[in-house]
Amino acid sequence: MELLKLEHVFLSYHTPGGETPVLDDISFSLEQGTFTAVVGPSGCGKSTILNLISGLIRPESGRVFIEGKSLSQSELNIGYMLQKDHLFEWRTVESNVLLGLEIQHKADAKNRARVDRLLKAYGLSPFKHSRPSQLSGGMRQRAALIRTLALDPALLLLDEPFSALDYQTRLSVSDDIWQIIRREKKTALLVTHDISEAVSMADQVIVLTRRPARIRRVIPITFKLPERTPMASRDMPEFKQYFNLIWKELNSHE
Ligand code: ADP
Ligand code: MG
Repeated sequence: MELLKLEHVFLSYHTPGGETPVLDDISFSLEQGTFTAVVGPSGCGKSTILNLISGLIRPESGRVFIEGKSLSQSELNIGYMLQKDHLFEWRTVESNVLLGLEIQHKADAKNRARVDRLLKAYGLSPFKHSRPSQLSGGMRQRAALIRTLALDPALLLLDEPFSALDYQTRLSVSDDIWQIIRREKKTALLVTHDISEAVSMADQVIVLTRRPARIRRVIPITFKLPERTPMASRDMPEFKQYFNLIWKELNSHE
């Protein structure tokens, strides 16, 4: 089933300095339960696409559909995860993870039980009463993901969530986060400028041009692996081929 669809989306920012076209005829769709990565040069309009899907901004023309309904009519929960984890030091890990539910007045028994299950399943139970500063960078990102999952979103928007981490940590955290998203059967849209990250995690990679972003190419990613993980994908011969293909697309200017 098609969970999300963008149809001929155009958008410009209007500032005192003039008009900046940012999105130029963007169309793509996400099948439920799949992982999609969007790669493109910095400043091309990647975050703008996520802001559009989350409803923070509206397209100038074109449409966004969720489960076939227009965005404003959809009641589907959308989760948003950013580069900074935005955990509050004055709250414990558990109360950080519950924050989104509290704000939405949804911290009922059922939702609290879900959070508890997630903390347990993903190794954070022993740190429930710790402060964020007592966690490693990877565990902080895991806590941030659980906070997002607490609201049971069907669609997860991830805006360069690993780019603040050092290289080693990034490899293991992206593997970790990917496995959680897979196990919880979420549909994910990851924005990144890291080609390796995109190839290792995604079922399809959408390659954007420089601003104003157009879709240069959509590349399906498959590996001949009995059980795919981002880490295992990186060792496959196809990995380098996909990397080179995307590299070429990003660096070709017609
Ligand atoms: P990316 O995430 O790919 O780096 P963004 O989507 O954040 O790019 O931004 C695309 C372009 O739009 C950039 O040139 C940025 O400076 C500009 N931009 C982003 N947000 C605004 C805004 N609110 N007002 C004006 N210009 C903006
Ligand atoms: Mg961005």
